[in-house]
Amino acid sequence: MICCTAVFLLSLAVVFFFAFSSAYFFIFLLIFAVFLMVGAIQIRLNVYLHSITHCNTRDTVLLSFDDGPHPIYTPLLLDVLDRYKVKAVFCIIGKNAKKHPELIKDIHNRGHLLIHHSYSHSWFFPLLSVKKMLKEIQYTNEVIEPLIKEKLLFFRPPFGVTNPRISKMLKKSALISLAWSYRSFDTTSKSSEQIINEIKKRIKGGDILLFHDNLPNTHLLIQEILPYLDQEFKMNSIPPKSLIYDI
Ligand SMILES: [Zn+2]
Repeated sequence: MICCTAVFLLSLAVVFFFAFSSAYFFIFLLIFAVFLMVGAIQIRLNVYLHSITHCNTRDTVLLSFDDGPHPIYTPLLLDVLDRYKVKAVFCIIGKNAKKHPELIKDIHNRGHLLIHHSYSHSWFFPLLSVKKMLKEIQYTNEVIEPLIKEKLLFFRPPFGVTNPRISKMLKKSALISLAWSYRSFDTTSKSSEQIINEIKKRIKGGDILLFHDNLPNTHLLIQEILPYLDQEFKMNSIPPKSLIYDI
């Protein structure tokens, strides 16, 4: 953000000092506005805040699942992950955790990493005040931390949207943003076959993959792709925290 402001002020100075036409200034303003908007929806560009996008090693890949826990689909997925001894990241919606505390304990006890994904997962989350965002973090902490007896350290911004308020909230709550390097697009109309073929074509060591565990087919998709991923990247029982955080 400091960088953006510096570029903006520098360009403003150039326009005034060198008496360029005001048209240049408005074109620049437009480009700058587009840049800020793209930065807000493309978390991996790190425009407003720094997010972890890759594992700290190229030897393996890490699976992450957003928007759970779901009372039916998450347990099915957990069984598939157990079968291949793969540990993943679960980006938990606080209000879902409140409804399914046993599931939260189960995810944790099976060795997966639970992280924040807001309490409400409201479409308006990116527009909330910092104070309201911090309340969402607090509510989620109050639900999850007593169940797993551990502090939550990471946050995945809902919809992958970032902005200066989310950056401020993260600083105040001492949470680290965890994004992804590869989005599976499992929430779109793509078939499992398409998703799997694209993963096989494009995935590289060090990638963090994004899926959703509140979907009926996720466990089947993971069941199909895990033998390939495990063979290529040796995912066997690696604790997720060790791949994204120097402990
Ligand atoms: Zn989400």
